[in-house]
Amino acid sequence: MPEQVWTAFNGSRVIFDNMDNAHLDHYQVYRFPGDPIFPVEGKPGIWNGDRLILKAARVSTRASNNGMTNFDRDKKLVRYLYEKKHTSVFEQVTYQFTVVMPLYIAEQWKRHRTWHMNQESLRYREQEEETIEFEIPEWHYQNTEGNKQGGDKLIDNPELLETLTVGYEGSTHAGWLRYRAAIDLGVAKEDARRFLPVSIMTTCMFTVDLHNLIGFLFKRCAPDAQREIRVLAYILKNKLVAQYNPWVHELINEEFTKRQWPLEYA
Ligand SMILES: Cc1cc2nc3c(=O)[nH]c(=O)nc-3n(C[C@H](O)[C@H](O)[C@H](O)COP(=O)(O)OP(=O)(O)OC[C@H]3O[C@@H](n4cnc5c(N)ncnc54)[C@H](O)[C@@H]3O)c2cc1C
Repeated sequence: MPEQVWTAFNGSRVIFDNMDNAHLDHYQVYRFPGDPIFPVEGKPGIWNGDRLILKAARVSTRASNNGMTNFDRDKKLVRYLYEKKHTSVFEQVTYQFTVVMPLYIAEQWKRHRTWHMNQESLRYREQEEETIEFEIPEWHYQNTEGNKQGGDKLIDNPELLETLTVGYEGSTHAGWLRYRAAIDLGVAKEDARRFLPVSIMTTCMFTVDLHNLIGFLFKRCAPDAQREIRVLAYILKNKLVAQYNPWVHELINEEFTKRQWPLEYA
């Protein structure tokens, strides 16, 4: 299974290539020192994402045990490091993945300055209609009195929903037609793109360490974060961190529960 894709409600998606993250993947088992390490049914194991934290912590003692000592002690150490904010050991774990999302969400993502990113360029790609993708919005929420980004009241008027959908499709299509016409008239691609709306989908490749990924989750899973980024943050938490750093995921979930935040996107 080299590549996995998780799609959100609006067409945004997270693409995770297992080959690019092979260093997280190796599931190791507690056995006698020196034994070969591989998964064994019925024996306690540790994902390599979590083991790397232990290995980094135990460099300080020049330990020669590959980071692992025994299951309970190791799990307690990860908790201790997390709770005492020994952040550098979490920075030794890196994740790499690609996100396809609306341009206006990519703008929010870019504010996380510690992430490494590369983004697609409209200048260097094909300019055919079938290759340009726009967000598929959900018009579920009304603006709130406090102007919170999450919104809290559903739009329940079918006529309004229909008007919004028709208006949106018309404006994205019109934007596309003007963009294409400008290029056909000889306008440079980087100038022509001003006709395109911010709901155009863009592709970004990211590399982030676990410490800054956790920081992102606490900002972007928060109930006041915009839904379209919140849903992606929950995919990162529940599909990636849960898989490769299950001990850290448990600790994150404990904090979410204390804050009364949902553990799944809601
Ligand atoms: C709901 C919400 C609304 C927001 N609205 C706005 C908005 O209207 N306008 C806007 O501009 N932003 C907005 N932001 C972005 C927000 O202000 C942060 O910039 C963004 O969330 C990134 O957070 P960060 O700095 O912790 O992450 P990162 O940039 O990934 O940084 C992680 C940590 O690294 C350290 N760090 C990184 N770079 C430096 C540096 N150069 N010097 C010192 N320390 C550094 C800091 O300790 C920082 O906490 C919003 C964010 C949220 C969640």
